[in-house]
Amino acid sequence: MTFRALVSNRHEDGEVSSTIETLSDERLPEGDVTVDVEWADLNYKDGLCLTGAGGLVRNYPHVSGIDFAGTVRKSADARYAVGDKVVLTGWRVGENHWGGYAERARVNADWLVPLPEGMTTRDAMIVGTAGLTAMLAIDRLEAAGLVPDAGEVLVTGAAGGVGTIALSLLAKLGYHAVALSGRPEHAESFTALGASAVLPRDEFLAQPDKPLESARWAAAIDSVGGKILGKLLKQVKYGGAVASIGNAGGIDLDTNVLPFILRGVTLAGIDSVMQPYGARVAAWSRIGETFDFGGYSALVEEVRLEDLPEAAKRILAGRIKGRVLVRVR
Ligand code: NDP
Repeated sequence: MTFRALVSNRHEDGEVSSTIETLSDERLPEGDVTVDVEWADLNYKDGLCLTGAGGLVRNYPHVSGIDFAGTVRKSADARYAVGDKVVLTGWRVGENHWGGYAERARVNADWLVPLPEGMTTRDAMIVGTAGLTAMLAIDRLEAAGLVPDAGEVLVTGAAGGVGTIALSLLAKLGYHAVALSGRPEHAESFTALGASAVLPRDEFLAQPDKPLESARWAAAIDSVGGKILGKLLKQVKYGGAVASIGNAGGIDLDTNVLPFILRGVTLAGIDSVMQPYGARVAAWSRIGETFDFGGYSALVEEVRLEDLPEAAKRILAGRIKGRVLVRVR
């Protein structure tokens, strides 16, 4: 009845370290569904939680892992039966509730989503929060009027989890996606995902800064924030929209109101964590119909629970390409 978990502890000097422990069910938090976790993944936020950076985790000992997929082991909720395949992302699981870096998890049934038809638990964690967020961003841009023949869609932080999946989804949906990256050496991977062009970050930032710049982008999906988001807003075409999903480059936004009042640009914020159930189910279903898992396989790195502390440092240093999948059992 015991299970393995990667348990993090904070020491007196403030350092956080994580080790594999064997636990029993009494250690699981409150919840109405117990899941045998098969796969988890590594997101930027997991890097913060595992290293203690950003102060996201308040209570130790802690099990990180903001996403997981597995099979229901026990359920006190009528919506889930033993043996059902489920996926969980967000709801602050892995931050203030024990997460997916353990062979077993116990959660609130409201947080789960049934695995879409034809998707494996491994597939679901290739997608994870990153893919869900990319899909929600595209949905939002389309709701703001984006259509494939509107022009180029810029994807920043292109080598990251959200960036690579966004490039792939956009290409499958018929959009002209342009990859903006600080690592243009990965250009081949971007074009293999369907990007129509690659823009090196240095080149983009070196363009002279003006209050309003030449309009190029029909839309953009931005993982970076900071200077990159500030500058790209000035280059969005009349009536275009930008989905702001992340802050890998900083939380500041240095821009001005001209893109909004002279070009009618929309800046749409995307949050995947607290998305209501209906929106999650719809997004997972569209991912299942759209995402090219085969075409993405070269961008998947597989690790085990014990490898996570090292992988966490790499994701925070911007040295991960694509998605890190965690084989939990
Ligand atoms: P990754 O670490 O996989 O990717 C982030 C990418 O951003 C990197 O690959 C790099 O791309 C770029 N980048 C990193 N550091 C910098 C920097 N200092 N300046 C400019 N670019 C940088 O993270 P994810 O894709 O998982 O997440 C991206 C962001 O989105 C994070 O901030 C994350 O917290 C946030 N997020 C938000 C969600 C939401 O619900 N709103 C959900 C998921 C993630 P390259 O090398 O190509 O330039």
